[in-house]
Amino acid sequence: MLEKAVSLRSMNTFGLEAKAALYFRIHQKEELSSLWKTNLLQLASPLVLGGGSNIVFKNDYHGLVLHNCLPGREVVSEDPQSVRVRFGAGESWHDCVMFAVSHGWGGVENLSLIPGTIGAAPIQNIGAYGAELKDVFDSLEAFDLESGEVRIFDKDACAFGYRDSYFKREGKGRYCILSVVLKLSKQPVLNISYGDIQATLSEMGIKHPGVKDVSAAVIQIRQSKLPDPKELGNCGSFFKNPMIPRAQYEALKASYPDLKSFPAEGDRVKIPAAWLIEQDGWKGKRIGNTGSHARQALVLVNYGGATGEEVANLADRIAGSVMMRFGVALEREVNILG
Ligand SMILES: Cc1cc2nc3c(=O)[nH]c(=O)nc-3n(C[C@H](O)[C@H](O)[C@H](O)COP(=O)(O)OP(=O)(O)OC[C@H]3O[C@@H](n4cnc5c(N)ncnc54)[C@H](O)[C@@H]3O)c2cc1C
Repeated sequence: MLEKAVSLRSMNTFGLEAKAALYFRIHQKEELSSLWKTNLLQLASPLVLGGGSNIVFKNDYHGLVLHNCLPGREVVSEDPQSVRVRFGAGESWHDCVMFAVSHGWGGVENLSLIPGTIGAAPIQNIGAYGAELKDVFDSLEAFDLESGEVRIFDKDACAFGYRDSYFKREGKGRYCILSVVLKLSKQPVLNISYGDIQATLSEMGIKHPGVKDVSAAVIQIRQSKLPDPKELGNCGSFFKNPMIPRAQYEALKASYPDLKSFPAEGDRVKIPAAWLIEQDGWKGKRIGNTGSHARQALVLVNYGGATGEEVANLADRIAGSVMMRFGVALEREVNILG
C-alpha cells in the first residue's frame, strides 16, 4: 500500500527524524512491476531502504522510499562440498548467518551480527574480521528501476572492492536487489587469525572450534566493542580505512612509529581510520547531540535528538581536520542523503 508522509525515524539505526513523501513496503517482487506500470518508479525518484543501518537522512526524502521486506530462504543446489542458498533481499543479514551456522555451513561466521538486510550486503561488500561478502557471493537478482527489467548479476558484474561494488558507482540508485544467492561451504575452513577471535575462543575454553564457536566469539567481541544502535544511534564505522601510497605511509610511519597498516592492492597501504581520528583528538568528543564514540573513534553516535545535518557536519569536520593534520583523505562508508 502506498503511504504518504511516513516517518523514517524507526527505520534508520541513527534514529534520525526524516519523512518520506511516499512510502511503499515491498513484500513480493511482482509489486515492483506493478508500480513500474503506473509510472511511479520513473517519476518519483525511488530510494531502496533496507535496515537503515548505513544511511543518514539529512532532510526529509521528497521521493518514494521502497522499503525492501522481501522474504525467503531456499536451497537452490548442493553437492558434497557446498550449498547454494537464495535469500530474499529483505531478510536480516544476521538471521541468514544464524541459519547458515545452525546447519554447520561455513563462510559467513566472521560476519555475524552485522546489522541490516541481505539485499544491502552486496552494495558495500560488507566485511569484518578478515571476511567479506564477496568470498561467499554467488549471484543476485535485481529489478532495474529505469527499464523495469529483472537482471541477474554474477560476481564479476558486481565488481566488488573494499566496501565497494558496482552498486555504489555506475549502478548507484538504479537497482532494487530482490534476492542474493550465497555459496556456503559444507567443509568450512575457519579464519580465526584476525583481531581477537583466537583469544576470545581461548577465553571461552574452546580448543577445536567449529563455525558456531567462531560466530559466538565474533558476537561476543562485537557486543563488547560496538555501541548497540538500540541504545545509542549509530551506523557502525563512518569512514573507510584509507589506502595511501606506500611513500606517504613510510613518511607518516617515520613521524608516528605506532601507525599500523594492513595489506592492500598494488603499491598502496591501508591504514586505520580510527587511529587517525583518535590521534587527532576526536575520540569521545561530543559536539551538540553527536560525537565520536568513547570506545570506537570511527563510530559517530546520536546522543539523542541529533539531526542528519549535525551528523554530516561532524563527519565533515573530522575528515577536514584529519586531512589538515595527516594529509590523508577519509572517505565515508555511510551513505548521506539530501
Ligand atoms: C552497529 C553497526 C555495526 C556495523 N558493522 C559493520 C561491519 O562490521 N561491516 C560492514 O560492512 N558494515 C557494517 N555496518 C554497516 C551496515 O550494517 C551495512 O552496510 C549493511 O549492509 C547495511 O544494510 P541495510 O539493510 O541497513 O542498508 P540501508 O542502510 O537500508 O541501505 C544502505 C544502502 O544500500 C541501498 N540498499 C539497501 N537495500 C537495497 C536493496 N535491496 N537493493 C538496492 N539497494 C539497496 C540503500 O539505498 C543505501 O544506499 C554496521 C552498522 C552498524 C549500525
